[in-house]
Amino acid sequence: MTPLLEVRGLTIRFGGLVAVNDVNLALSANEVLCIIGPNGAGKSTLFNMISGVYRPSAGEVLLEGQDITGWPAHKITAAGIARTFQSSRLFNDLSLIDNVVIGMHCRTRSGVFDALLRPGKARAELEAAAGKAGDLLQAISPELYARRHSLAGSLPQADRRRLEIARALASDPKVIMLDEPSSGMDDRDTDALMEDVRRTMAERPSLSYLIIEHDMRLVSSLPDRVAVIDYGSKIADGDFADVRLLPRVQEAYLGQ
Ligand code: ADP
Ligand code: MG
Repeated sequence: MTPLLEVRGLTIRFGGLVAVNDVNLALSANEVLCIIGPNGAGKSTLFNMISGVYRPSAGEVLLEGQDITGWPAHKITAAGIARTFQSSRLFNDLSLIDNVVIGMHCRTRSGVFDALLRPGKARAELEAAAGKAGDLLQAISPELYARRHSLAGSLPQADRRRLEIARALASDPKVIMLDEPSSGMDDRDTDALMEDVRRTMAERPSLSYLIIEHDMRLVSSLPDRVAVIDYGSKIADGDFADVRLLPRVQEAYLGQ
């Protein structure tokens, strides 16, 4: 069967540095794959190539068999890959609900974005979008929904991460890529995050997650599979229980 997302021989050089070197990865429908590895290993750079932020020096990215290598980021989002960044990219001066509405626009290309910028126009369309965004927010978190008219800038860190996931979901993606979603979260917040991932997967049978993580509590319990990146190369891929025992993984990462 064709994987949902496939990465073949993906490589990028920055001057003399090979930041990602010949990485192969496959993600199935309704699968959670965690990517782990030391700081500077090339994890975020891999995400940046998949999502069209960087153009690879070599290799391919395929979404449902379609070659999307080197496509501009907005086209990749529209094709069904949504992501969050290591540092939050919310619109702090917009409400929670408007941040989600913008996520919806990324995929649908409705006039919602225009409507948001020019409230006098297309009010009905905007209201319909806001209704849908409200439903989505409610489904992710009743607490976020209760604060839907607050400004995103007023949210604590953990809620900002959850809002980013709601916004990613708003584009109705096939793949959501999260870059270190649990950073700045305590155990309780991380549990809520894992619950969000599990619930949204259960509700959407074709949705998959690609998650860069360092929190071993999350990595040991959430994903179906774990891939380890070290010095730009993939050194292991499989069940966490097996992967963590490999000497190269212990050396490169877990033993540090
Ligand atoms: P990780 O996310 O695994 O911590 P990164 O992917 O951010 O690591 O970085 C991998 C390597 O690529 C690092 O050495 C980093 O300095 C380098 N790198 C990333 N982006 C660029 C860039 N735009 N220009 C030059 N070097 C970069
Ligand atoms: Mg990173």
